[in-house]
Amino acid sequence: MKGLRLAALTGDQKTVVRVRGVRIGEGFVVIAGPCSVEGEQQMLATAHAVKRCGADMLRGGAFKPRTSPYAFQGLGLKGLKILAQARRETGLPVVTEVLDTRHVPWVCEYADVVQIGARNMQNYSLLKEVGRCEKPVLLKRGMHATLEEWLNCAEYILSEGNPNVILCERGIRTFETYTRNTLDLSAVPALKEITHLPVIVDPSHATGRASLIPAMCLAAVSSGADGVMVEVHINPSEALSDREQALSPEEFDGLMRKIRYLKKAMDELK
Ligand code: PEP
Ligand code: MN
Repeated sequence: MKGLRLAALTGDQKTVVRVRGVRIGEGFVVIAGPCSVEGEQQMLATAHAVKRCGADMLRGGAFKPRTSPYAFQGLGLKGLKILAQARRETGLPVVTEVLDTRHVPWVCEYADVVQIGARNMQNYSLLKEVGRCEKPVLLKRGMHATLEEWLNCAEYILSEGNPNVILCERGIRTFETYTRNTLDLSAVPALKEITHLPVIVDPSHATGRASLIPAMCLAAVSSGADGVMVEVHINPSEALSDREQALSPEEFDGLMRKIRYLKKAMDELK
């Protein structure tokens, strides 16, 4: 990053993003929920389940970036309203993706954190738009993006006046096909050396396989990440999107216990 003069890189003070009492950039934050908001019953049942297991925040897509235009595209505004209801019932702050500049006001009204997905990492007009909104932004790494390109995208948001950016490593595309993507976990300690922004890991989209997610979550804890984002569905085999990577509430409960145990052990060594 020699010669780069970015706000994302300068300053000794680590950025802590505050979201309704949750602090991202201190401790370890777990964001959980379904890939998509599919309906009231599915979303609310999943929200209550992840809350019981100890999640700190809730995720769920209302606007879905799907490979096929014929695949489920999300419930849109109706989905945002369901997410707001899930927040009212559980108290969990909500993260959801925005795909289109025209929807930024809606998403900012209903969500606590606005997500920019991997496919939109370099959508500069969208980055500028969320840079002007009041809500923190979770910026996922593009699947072909270098750290420098990713940090420049964070800079688009910061330079519009929004200081609350969370980086999310979600796997990059390599020649390997067994996993959906390749989780670049070395990005976490690398980013910790060069930026003050919080860094979280999404092992769900990185691996695409439910069986691999617990190991990668624990590896994320060990890497020094500030948190993970995990897809959990009340009934994984019925999920309308990303069903192969959805954890059941029981699997998520077991994972949460291991995360807590490992985090505590690491804190004791400090
Ligand atoms: C998501 O988190 O819902 C998502 C679509 O992830 P990504 O942008 O990382 O593919
Ligand atoms: Mn998904």
